[in-house]
Amino acid sequence: MSTEPQLRADIVEVGRRMYARGYTASNDGNISVRLGTDRLLMTPKSVCKGFMAAEMMCITDLEGRKLQGDRDPSSEMLMHLEVYRQRPDVQAVVHAHPPIATGFAVAGIPLDRAVLAEVLTTLGSVPIAEYATPSTRELPDAVRKYIKAHDGMLLANHGALTVGADLFAAYYKMETIEHFAKISLVARLLGRENLIAREEVDRLQGLRGTYGIKAPAPICADPSEALALLDAGDPASCQVVQAPQGDGHRLVPDSVLGGDDLPRVAANPKGEADGEFRLTYRELSALIADAVKSLR
Ligand SMILES: [Zn+2]
Repeated sequence: MSTEPQLRADIVEVGRRMYARGYTASNDGNISVRLGTDRLLMTPKSVCKGFMAAEMMCITDLEGRKLQGDRDPSSEMLMHLEVYRQRPDVQAVVHAHPPIATGFAVAGIPLDRAVLAEVLTTLGSVPIAEYATPSTRELPDAVRKYIKAHDGMLLANHGALTVGADLFAAYYKMETIEHFAKISLVARLLGRENLIAREEVDRLQGLRGTYGIKAPAPICADPSEALALLDAGDPASCQVVQAPQGDGHRLVPDSVLGGDDLPRVAANPKGEADGEFRLTYRELSALIADAVKSLR
């Protein structure tokens, strides 16, 4: 168990890294850790996370009452309190606005496609919690739907939230989400994503036990059934991962690139690299319109 001075120093360090990596701008973002069983150590409101000092932190109880500190606790305290209420296993919560992941959150595209083996074994999938006005009661309500089954999520038109068994574990998940978002964006710009097949996803899930990864929930056996339950308002009890049947192949070419407005390049159904791109009429029109615009 870390001491309070160590935890204060860890929050300062994680804040510095978040700001240095551009995950927050100005006074964005917030960080908290459990301090024993009934108190939290939390970043204060209105400070840049890149320039914090250990003595700036607030101590609150689990209801959010301030017990110690010259400053007021983070404006997103309600969201942090909700996470600790729902997840007794969680020791730390990190919230930031990493720009690529937040771009997915703005586009309404969850990071739930089976593309990176390491993400599948650790986070599973990264859903998007519904839009909620920041710093109001709406935000904990939106987070509650996903937090029992996920260690990381996007917040629609806002940012990302990660949790962990210690502060650095929570912070590294934020790094993983932004890295995953970056790679997904590049693959989509390149025009295709080869997806990891369902059978391989099951195999990767099996590795969680081997590596002692404590995921909060299994990957959903039937993603469409799980999505229907979520649409009906049920909280998530498993992690939705979009993975096609492989029929003996571990990677499956796929070109369905999420948002309908993205230019799409159809994958060769046989997965052969013959250099041929096929576009729908709409995609071709969009490309021509873009080219004309750049000529002006
Ligand atoms: Zn925020």
